[in-house]
Amino acid sequence: MAGLVGDAVRGLVGVRPRRLVTPRADLPWRVPVAAGEAPSAVVVGGGIAGMSAAVVLAERGVRVTVLEAADHLGGRLGAWPRPMATGGVETMEHGFHGFFRQYYTWRALLRRIDPELSFLRPLDGYPVISRAWPAEDFADLPGVPPFNLLALVLRSPSLRLADLRHVDRVAASALLEYDRTRTYAAFDLMSAAELLDRLAMPDRARAVLFEVFSHSFFNREDDFSAAELIMMFHFYFLANPEGLAMDVPVDDFATCVWDPFARLLDSLGAPVRTGAPVDRVEPGPEGGWSVVLAGSGEAVPAPHVVLATDPGALRRLLAASPGLARRGSRLAAEVEALPIGAPYAVTRYWTDRPPAAARSVFSGVTRESTVDAVAVYSRLERGATAWAARTGGGVVELHSYACDDSLDATTAASRMWTELGALWPEVRGMRVLEADSRVGRDAPGFPPGSDATRPSVLTDAPGVRLAGDWVRLDFPSALMERAAVSGVLAANDVLAAYGVRAEPVDTVRPRGLLRPRPPDTDPAIASRA
Ligand SMILES: Cc1cc2nc3c(=O)[nH]c(=O)nc-3n(C[C@H](O)[C@H](O)[C@H](O)COP(=O)(O)OP(=O)(O)OC[C@H]3O[C@@H](n4cnc5c(N)ncnc54)[C@H](O)[C@@H]3O)c2cc1C
Repeated sequence: MAGLVGDAVRGLVGVRPRRLVTPRADLPWRVPVAAGEAPSAVVVGGGIAGMSAAVVLAERGVRVTVLEAADHLGGRLGAWPRPMATGGVETMEHGFHGFFRQYYTWRALLRRIDPELSFLRPLDGYPVISRAWPAEDFADLPGVPPFNLLALVLRSPSLRLADLRHVDRVAASALLEYDRTRTYAAFDLMSAAELLDRLAMPDRARAVLFEVFSHSFFNREDDFSAAELIMMFHFYFLANPEGLAMDVPVDDFATCVWDPFARLLDSLGAPVRTGAPVDRVEPGPEGGWSVVLAGSGEAVPAPHVVLATDPGALRRLLAASPGLARRGSRLAAEVEALPIGAPYAVTRYWTDRPPAAARSVFSGVTRESTVDAVAVYSRLERGATAWAARTGGGVVELHSYACDDSLDATTAASRMWTELGALWPEVRGMRVLEADSRVGRDAPGFPPGSDATRPSVLTDAPGVRLAGDWVRLDFPSALMERAAVSGVLAANDVLAAYGVRAEPVDTVRPRGLLRPRPPDTDPAIASRA
């Protein structure tokens, strides 16, 4: 009954998944050629975007090869073995990731390796903590918009009804009126900081509701497009019936995601080569492309290439590939302008005792100068839990999402740990036995004005497609889901070249609650392939 009522409410307000790409049943599912004659494709980059493209292509009979520079798969969702000074080997990862329930495409791909998604478990709440205010948890808000918004205003101590009198109506309604064309036209040149200033929220609401949210996209508010922030707010909060609930893997990403994907591709006959950095892509001597590896100079030929690297690597690749730049002059110009996000820091600490049992497994942090999030791994993943059980210690991970360019990993680790001690006093008495600190410079940037030159999946270089969480899409999507969906769209375009049925693609409601035009009728959004 409750489900029926929920469905009715979702239907009434129109917040339900929409099919963006509807496969045509009259087209073949696989490339219709005899074995040995199948078309080939090379995917450069073995992160979510590249592996998503590779899985779809391999399933449909395209001979696909994945070339990944690192010695492990996964990119920013990667995991690798770490010998411990204290003995043994633990798995280190790129950092805590929340798998949101509206990641429809990413989840559909993950179901290939785990049909029930049994490697995911719900995260019981995630509070935002700070020195200034009591912790506030948004995960238990109702899932369905606009009821989540109403509950937020009625329940949140950060935003009381009386405060709304002072909130700027034009800026506030922009949050509810997301529309791909209008929002970017009106707000892409404005910074997120300016939009937040205009909103004129009470300071606590700004810190707890918006700053934590915008930091999670690896961009500083003054260098982050207001249109992207509006899109993200729409995508995570106002467009999906699943609400802010997220799931987390029960074990490390290699065990849960990448080893099973590598086995799947192996069973489909698709080579996945790690430790294979691509140096350049040049026109092939007999047409198509030559994907040339650094070091050995080995050239892997293919008519189809999916470039699924991080933005900085793509810029380097294009700069080293004059033949590709000549045949794709728009691609070259757009990639040259592709922005890179602020550096981020991740440190995992192995400690002599765990944080207090009452601490949430994952918390957002607001108004600290360095730390933005904390995850208690000793209660999160099997490997870390086992280490803690063996040693009586704890495993804690801290993130800083948009740090100063000059911040080094050791300084970031020490600052974040000190700041955590101010929030969780028991941390001051803990001894850090070992720490693994990194600063990453591979997140995409979304500065004001960047939408105009942001490259899309399709390029003007024949046979070359792009995929990644930095690619321009015509519908709302972000982070892991943006990476996965761009990979699937790239694969769909290869399949289309052989008249093969597309992989279906679903999305959240494409328009804001105050823009109710049924998107299924919008030819710019819905397509059949
Ligand atoms: C600390 C942290 C926390 C995050 N938390 C979340 C979260 O909670 N939820 C969420 O949805 N997202 C989160 N993200 C973002 C998410 O990880 C990314 O959106 C996603 O992994 C991007 O995938 P991608 O395939 O586009 O790019 P990448 O993961 O960057 O993959 C690109 C791959 O290309 C490879 N490559 C680069 N150059 C070459 C070359 N020349 N030849 C061959 N290979 C090359 C790289 O080694 C890499 O493996 C987080 C990211 C970080 C860093």
